[in-house]
Amino acid sequence: MKLSLIIPCYNEEEALPYIYEELVKVSATLSDYEIEYLFVNDGSKDHTLDKLKELAAHDERVKYFSFSRNFGKEAAMYAGFCNASGDYVAVMDADLQDPPSLLPKMLEILATGEYDSVATRRVNREGEPPIRSFFARQFYKLINKISDADIVDGARDFRLMKRDMVDAIIELNEYNRFSKGIFGWIGFRTYWLPYENVERVAGETKWSFWKLFKYALDGIVNFSQTPLSIASFGGIFLTFVSFIAIIFVIVRRLIWGDPVDGWASLVCIITFIGGIQLFCMGIMGQYLSKTYLETKHRPHYIVAESNADDPVKIH
Ligand code: UDP
Ligand code: MG
Repeated sequence: MKLSLIIPCYNEEEALPYIYEELVKVSATLSDYEIEYLFVNDGSKDHTLDKLKELAAHDERVKYFSFSRNFGKEAAMYAGFCNASGDYVAVMDADLQDPPSLLPKMLEILATGEYDSVATRRVNREGEPPIRSFFARQFYKLINKISDADIVDGARDFRLMKRDMVDAIIELNEYNRFSKGIFGWIGFRTYWLPYENVERVAGETKWSFWKLFKYALDGIVNFSQTPLSIASFGGIFLTFVSFIAIIFVIVRRLIWGDPVDGWASLVCIITFIGGIQLFCMGIMGQYLSKTYLETKHRPHYIVAESNADDPVKIH
């Protein structure tokens, strides 16, 4: 049995020695498996690539795929999936926030044959800024209400999967990727393994608040059509209200004559409607721009350098 471990790395020169040490330790306990480490260097600006080359020189299990620029974590994971040859495939962060020590247990669960994948879920968010936790919680509540991909609160991208599931993920080659949604959408039997949050071992988080906010919006637009319905229903509602208002104005004119006051409220109404119209056009624009990107069929990533035998360099 072969096990492929995918590790996306963006400016992780400080964390790499730690994760590598952990991986070697865990691998030693998994003697039944042939193991490969697929490090994807996502256009790092530090010495991540040099570090990876060093590791590869001493350990032939280390395969690196270095992107021509920063394509984002989603693209890095996709590159990993496309290049993984294992019967079992796992994705994990480079900062040890996804503890490799859980792997033996995850493999055990898959070995029972009852499940196709083992996913992990943080039971707390200790060590994270409270405002970030708050918005994360709201996001999970919202997305589960308005989309049919069920996305678990605290779910990590850290997962161990069987080959069939990986093939399904590769098949879903949409350009705008939101893995938590994709994993949920393809289905399969998933076991959820809870664990306590671990803080990053070294280096800094690559996700600013705004980057996360945009990612959350992407998740919503990619997995739900509800915002479009809100726009349509808002439109219908306002049409209805204005219809009532017209009748009201006509009746008033017939009964009380024609007073010229009321221009201030008129201006308010015009700006209000104008705002709503722009807002709805913005929503449509979001979907349209996604569609535009999808129809271009651009590759998800470009590998500039790799030590693998036959790397899938562009996909
Ligand atoms: N990452 C990446 N490309 C990016 C941003 C992040 O490959 O553009 C990787 C990063 O190296 C790490 C993982 O994604 O292995 C998670 O990033 P990070 O730990 O910064 O996120 P957080 O845990 O703070 O959500
Ligand atoms: Mg992290």
